[in-house]
Amino acid sequence: MQSFSQDVLQGIIRTDLTSSRTFYLSGSSWLQIEDELFRTFSSGASMFLIHLGSYYGRSIVKEAKTEFSDPEGIFERLKAMMLTAGWGQLSINWREGDERNVEVEMKNCIFCSEETKALSCYFLQGVVAGAMSETFGREYNVAETECCRKGKDSCKLIATLANMRETPGVHSAGSESD
Ligand SMILES: [Zn+2]
Ligand SMILES: [Zn+2]
Repeated sequence: MQSFSQDVLQGIIRTDLTSSRTFYLSGSSWLQIEDELFRTFSSGASMFLIHLGSYYGRSIVKEAKTEFSDPEGIFERLKAMMLTAGWGQLSINWREGDERNVEVEMKNCIFCSEETKALSCYFLQGVVAGAMSETFGREYNVAETECCRKGKDSCKLIATLANMRETPGVHSAGSESD
């Protein structure tokens, strides 16, 4: 044990991003947990992961809102959180004043960095849905349109206002076809 701060020696990690404590979870362990969920709950695991992700996405934005009131600031925080957590490099594309469709891209996405039973980055889908819903105060559906699992360079997701039209994603588990 060298060059650990006093806090870390006591099992406490804090980053500059939030006031709360944080914890480390290895990517391969998380993906094994996802695999076990699919083994236990089969296709139901995708909804579970989406819901889990959306609660997390909402909580990140709730905390960001204590410092930022504009989507720009909130999204910067969201991107920084993902960089710091080693999730990947997030970019968010939307037209100011028009929040109907928000395009999200994740480069170096950890959730598809290893072969798993999941066909899509469900947890990430949920995080994006929760984060957008909390940012704009309206419900979103999120679908993953491109995934590194299918040989793409990055995972691309589209968040669409839930009352606009039916899109596969958060409210339907049937988004597993190519
Ligand atoms: Zn991914
Ligand atoms: Zn993906």
